[in-house]
Parts: sequence; structure tokens; C-alpha cells
Amino acid sequence: MQHITASPGSMPLGVSDSPVYSDANNCDSGDLVADIAVSPGCNIRLFNNGETIFTEGSSADKAYIIESGYVEIFVGFGNESLHLNVLAPGDIFGEMGLIDASPRSASAKAIGPCRCIIVSATQVAERIESSSPLVRLLISMSLHRNRAYNAYLQTLANPQMRLPSPAATEKPYTRSHQYQQILADIKLESDLRNAVVNDELFLVYQPLLNLNTAKVVGFEALLRWQCPQRGLVSPQQFIALAEETSLILPMGDWILEHSCADLQRFQHQFDQLKPGSADFFISVNISVRQFQQPSFFERLIACTQRYGVEAKHIKLEVTEGIFLDEGEAIDAIDKCRAAGFQVSLDDFGTGYSSLNYLERCEIDYLKIDQSFIQKLCSSDRAQILVGSIIDIARKLGLPTVAEGIETPAQMAALRGMGCDIGQGFLFSRPLPLAEALALVGQPLALADCA
Ligand code: C2E
Ligand code: CA
Ligand code: CA
Repeated sequence: MQHITASPGSMPLGVSDSPVYSDANNCDSGDLVADIAVSPGCNIRLFNNGETIFTEGSSADKAYIIESGYVEIFVGFGNESLHLNVLAPGDIFGEMGLIDASPRSASAKAIGPCRCIIVSATQVAERIESSSPLVRLLISMSLHRNRAYNAYLQTLANPQMRLPSPAATEKPYTRSHQYQQILADIKLESDLRNAVVNDELFLVYQPLLNLNTAKVVGFEALLRWQCPQRGLVSPQQFIALAEETSLILPMGDWILEHSCADLQRFQHQFDQLKPGSADFFISVNISVRQFQQPSFFERLIACTQRYGVEAKHIKLEVTEGIFLDEGEAIDAIDKCRAAGFQVSLDDFGTGYSSLNYLERCEIDYLKIDQSFIQKLCSSDRAQILVGSIIDIARKLGLPTVAEGIETPAQMAALRGMGCDIGQGFLFSRPLPLAEALALVGQPLALADCA
């Protein structure tokens, strides 16, 4: 046998016929083991000196963590076999075949008595499936490289063997839709990072109306991205990605900064018409991650102080997602409200569907999701739901906002149900700052819509 040492933990694996011992009392030999060998107790396998654990080419349904003893990994058979590595306690092996369902590309045998913890295919699959597409891609790539490396080592052991042709080494995953999507996301993410730095973002403002007086009472700040290569990109295309990455944090700071700067101008305009009025507000969307940031409150306060704007003119639009960590969310909301900010619950009815938090947490507005409003006049069930939401809100002393109003009939229905504030294309699309400023205090032609 020839000897070449490969990197530890890089070998793919097969299956042994050795007996399995259930031994829950022996699962405490280190963090790695404790993490992977979860309940209902870890399965232990014992191997004798020289015993084959699995052979190259066999199918893979489990991986192993060495608890005690040593394991030799090799490729090839008999005199032609090539020693690749010796693994020691703590090493994991046999994982590759579990990840990509390929046959073992090397063999493993015990050197001396050996005790291994079994990691099942399900345990591995569950963890991989819950990881991000990028992490899954990186795993696929490193598996591919390990397999190619094993193939290369085999050609050293058997000079008559040839390295696979370039066509045979083509990575199948590069053709998949998933891979193309990951590449597109990575490109989008790096363009978006530049967007924050290069000032390619801007805010537009959509008016919110008091449905009874038809007056514009505030605006929602909505993010836009003018990308030099892509043109105008809608937040629907990039906000989710920004939220998955840490990008939403600098982006969120940028939004706060610019909405406070713009609020200063709105306020000036409003004060000229109605000096001292507290009615006017701008709504700023705050993403879950941004809201959960420990320094969020301090950043918010610092921002309002920089621009000399008052908290009472700012509505923080948060989604039900923040209540996944209910205790923290309630504390953060209380803190913001105590400082004078208003908190509006956006997209109500679509997210974390428990009404618990409404009982435990005080907020200022309930914003009914536009998916309900769009079906309001075509679905009895949507009508019942919207009516009930408005009723519940009224009984809790919460004003309601309906977004996505597109037709006079939707507006009339909402008015009839007692909804307080409306927003939608029927009144106005989101506008550049200058056009929005011109609307301050103006009644929109609601009578025409009714
Ligand atoms: P959202 O917070 O629910 O914002 C309302 C969305 O509905 C906006 O889309 C708005 O333009 C659109 N809309 C308003 N009226 C109508 C209507 O009558 N019909 C229809 N079909 N749509 C209407 P937009 O600006 O594309 O924003 C989409 C989402 O992106 C927002 O949903 C919000 O989740 C996110 N987003 C936008 N700006 C920001 C931001 O500054 N920060 C954060 N964290 N998220 C933002
Ligand atoms: Ca919103
Ligand atoms: Ca919304």
C-alpha cells in the first residue's frame, strides 16, 4: 500500500455491518459530539482492529464521529490501495456521501479497537436543508473538490488510470436553476452594497389620507434603488435579500438618516400651513433585523436629534415578524413609544399569526395588509376578515390604516367599516420628495372617488 496524507475529515464513506449499541451515557465527549449526536440518545458502533467500516463504491447512509481509536482512510483495493489519511478521536468521516447521495469514494477501516458515534442521514439532511443556499453551494463545491482530489490520488496509485476528462469533471450543480439563482443573488448583494456607498438609493413618499376628511395626514417613506446597470429596482427585488444578509443594517441607517432629513422639510411645510400641529407624520419601514439590533433605539434617537425632528412625527412600521422574539419586541416597542414614537403594525394578518401580542403589547396603529383590501369587493370572506380586524382594533382603541386601495368601491367599503386612514394608488402612487411636499395639507379629490 502507498501512503499519502490527505486533509482530515475530507473523506467520503460507506456502511459497515457491525452491530449498533445504543449508549446514551457516552455522548459527552466534546462539543462537536454533543452538538451532532442529538436525542433520542446517540448510537455507538464498535469496530475491531482491522475491521472494515465501509468500502469505496458502497452507498452511504450514515457518517461517523470517532470517539476513541483511529481509522484509516484509503482508496483502491489490495496491493493497489493507497493510504490517504489516519483519523483520530473527534474527526468526522463518511459525511460526503450523505450530503450528495453519491457512493463512497474511499474506504475506511479501524486501526485497533475503535468506537464511533453514528450520525444519521436525517440528522445531516435536516441541518443542510435549513442552511442558506449559499452555504449549500459551498458544501457542494468542496465535496466536488474532495472527490476530484481522491480521483487524482488514485491515478498516482495506479499510473495506468487516467485523470477524468474535463467533460467528466463538469460540476452538475453549475447548470442548476438553484446555482444560477445563488450567483444572481451574490451579484445583487454586491451591487446593493455599492448602492449604499455610492448613493444610488432614494426615498419616495406615498400619501396617507384621513378617510373622513380626505386630508393628507402623512406619508410612508418607501425605498427605491436607481442602479446604473439594472435601472430602477423595486424593493420587492432586494429588500428580502438585504434582510437575509447584514446589509439591511447600513441600509436601515441610510433610510433613517434620509427620512429624518426629509421630515425636517415636511415639517417646515406643514408648520407654514398649520403651525404647531402634532397630526402630521411620516411612516418609516423598519425591518425585523434592524429593529432587533441592540443599538436601534440609540441610533433612532441620535438621528432625530441630528435633524431636530420630533419623535411624535415618526411612525415606525414594523411587521409581526418582530414578535417571534416576543419579550424583546415588547420591550423595544415600549421604549420607542415612551420616547414619543408611534408604532404601527404593518402587513397585519399575514405574518406571525398569533393575536397574543396584541393583548400584551401596546401599539398605535394597525395596518391591514393590502392582500385583504384587494379582495375586499370580490370575496365575502375578505370582507368579513377586514370588518373583524377593524372591529377588534376599534375595541382595543387602535386606529386602522388600509393600504393598497385601488378602487372607489374599496375605499367606500373601508369607510363604511370605520377604517380611519387609507393609502393606495387610488389616491396617489409613491412620489418624489418635491411632489410629496406640494401635497402637504391638501385635500385629495375624495368626493370623486366615493
Ligand atoms: P410595504 O411596507 O407593505 O409597502 C407598501 C407597498 O405597497 C409599497 O410597495 C407601495 O408602493 C405598494 N402600494 C401602495 N399602494 C398600492 C396600491 O394601491 N396597489 C398596489 N398594488 N401596491 C400599492 P413598494 O414601495 O414596492 O415596497 C414593497 C415593500 O418593500 C414594502 O412593503 C416594504 O416591505 C419594503 N420596503 C419598501 N421600502 C422600505 C424601507 O424603506 N425599509 C424597509 N425595511 N422595507 C421597505
Ligand atoms: Ca409599510
Ligand atoms: Ca404593508
